[in-house]
Amino acid sequence: MHDFAQKLQQPSLWPRVVDYVRWQRARAAAAAAGAPPPDLPDLAPLSINLDLTTACNFACDHCIDWEILNDKARHDDADLRRQLERMAERGLRSVILIGGGEPTLYPGFADFVGFLKRLGLQVAVVSNGSRNQRVLQAAPHFTAGDWVRLSLDAGGNDVWRRMHHPSNQSLTLEEICGWIPKIKAINPAVRVGYSFVITWRGASRGDVRVVENVHEMALAAARAQDAGFDYISFKPFLERQPDGSEVMDPAKAQQLQAVVARIRQALAQAREHARARPGFQVLESTNLRVLTAGTWRDTTRQPRTCHMQMLRQVVSPLGTYNCPAHRGVDRARVGDKDVWAVPPAAQHATARMLATFDASVECREVTCLYHGTNWWLEELIAAPAELPDAPPAPERNDWFL
Ligand code: SF4
Repeated sequence: MHDFAQKLQQPSLWPRVVDYVRWQRARAAAAAAGAPPPDLPDLAPLSINLDLTTACNFACDHCIDWEILNDKARHDDADLRRQLERMAERGLRSVILIGGGEPTLYPGFADFVGFLKRLGLQVAVVSNGSRNQRVLQAAPHFTAGDWVRLSLDAGGNDVWRRMHHPSNQSLTLEEICGWIPKIKAINPAVRVGYSFVITWRGASRGDVRVVENVHEMALAAARAQDAGFDYISFKPFLERQPDGSEVMDPAKAQQLQAVVARIRQALAQAREHARARPGFQVLESTNLRVLTAGTWRDTTRQPRTCHMQMLRQVVSPLGTYNCPAHRGVDRARVGDKDVWAVPPAAQHATARMLATFDASVECREVTCLYHGTNWWLEELIAAPAELPDAPPAPERNDWFL
């Protein structure tokens, strides 16, 4: 799922990577010659996280975006659509409707999904599952490659309720899962996932201790499979540091080795359940793999320049940010929420961010999903050989970054 370097070598994305690498080489040459830097090519990010709203109808203890929820800032729908048209003209290929709020609360959510699809974009939705009627309405618009992921994080109703604090007191996990066959019946092409953030005793959000759920992993896998999800994906809990960046802090887990051993055992049990239905998958996030392998510190060593800032950004009602790990953080702010409405302005702002945001410092605590891709791009820029115009990898039709 997260082999971003492979994704970037597909025929559909490779030409933009070549443009970017050539620009970085020209910029370095200009700097060496004491000449002014060249303008960024006329590109937009290939993929964005689009926060449609900061409003949320849950109050999850483990929410990574707690500080920015339910802000007064709003998108203007017409302006947002115009901006996305400008971005699609410049290479935007995919949009993930995600964080900082519950996307299905956005007025006209289903129609907005249809608008994105008419622009030829791949679309994904990450939702808390409380308004699956809206997902059902959007379902006819999805095409192969699009996905919906519900953040459920529990196997039973009691833990789910204690973790999420839904505003609708009568809502249950069973009811949420009951929508999946209906969504699949309307559009079998959309892939639907059950997301499970693993929490353990000792983890906290500020002063709030999160509810432990390691013991519900296998139960959740069984529920996901029975309800008709295509997969369940497990990832470890992240915390927000005082400086705003999202970090994994397993050092805070009491008896880390014991927690990792329990997670491994629960994963094995989840995989046992998965054998019962062919095609159902149990997935581990990159962060979970490095946590259980004991190598997570390696992914906190970033190059000075984060190249992913050019290829993937976050557009939220609060502004445009260089990375999901720094959503809502001032020093990671590329510009206003509609900075891409005027692409040259956004390109200048991105070039400024590329020059000034020192990822080796700002992201030194972040277990970065894009760690390997950034180092791969760093090597491409430094290599003496001209980049081939021919794409190195076959098309996967997966443009999410
Ligand atoms: S180095 Fe990683 S965490 Fe830091 S801004 Fe880039 S992608 Fe985000």
